[in-house]
Amino acid sequence: MIIIMLGAQGTGKGTVAGLLSENIRIPQISTGDIFRKNISDKTPLGIEADKYISKGNLVPDDITVPMVEDRLTWEDAKEGAILDGFPRTIQQAEKLDEMLSKKGKKVDLVVNLVTPRDEIIDRMLTRRVCTNQECKATYNIKLSPPKVEGICDKCGFALKQRADDSDPEAIKKRLEIYEEKTSPLVEYYKNKGVLRTEEISVSINRMGTDVAKSIVEDLKND
Ligand code: ADP
Ligand code: ZN
Repeated sequence: MIIIMLGAQGTGKGTVAGLLSENIRIPQISTGDIFRKNISDKTPLGIEADKYISKGNLVPDDITVPMVEDRLTWEDAKEGAILDGFPRTIQQAEKLDEMLSKKGKKVDLVVNLVTPRDEIIDRMLTRRVCTNQECKATYNIKLSPPKVEGICDKCGFALKQRADDSDPEAIKKRLEIYEEKTSPLVEYYKNKGVLRTEEISVSINRMGTDVAKSIVEDLKND
């Protein structure tokens, strides 16, 4: 089963993807996480990607697409994957359709997360990530703080703010790019009949855990 997470920055894609992955036992593939691991390991891919990421721009397709194509060939992705952060453009979506159809697969479900704009910006500023690249747990100092300030509950490593989350200009740029380049994917997948839109907001008391639970239940009943 191939599941895609769609939604602006800060809506909770990573959280929902992680919970789905634990429950249906297929890997969560986050392009942002792969890039950040390469950046911290100073690989050639990381050094190249960082030129774009630090400014809030998209990494070009000639780097991103082969990286995802390769990751999907790993043994753990044999039964499927939850793609978190890919595709982000119509062009990437078409490339994904091509690579899946070569293997007789297709996109089965697209989870589109929607959150009010003011909550999104607030959440990006209060997001903290685990510095342990093998863990990568995400917290929110307001909504889901760690038990001990600055320390990951799961592994004890220090938490930090992502570089692109602390720069208001980079945040603004990422949200603009989302609107312009990524949001057309909502229509693209709606037309394919695989779109499931879910609102996540404190105002309706519905968070990522609630959404993940309802999706898992529906998948089990299928
Ligand atoms: P966010 O969604 O909060 O911007 P991600 O962790 O998904 O963060 O991605 C971080 C950065 O990595 C993005 O701002 C972008 O520069 C790059 N990136 C991630 N996925 C893609 C993609 N599919 N295509 C191009 N660039 C990407
Ligand atoms: Zn951790």
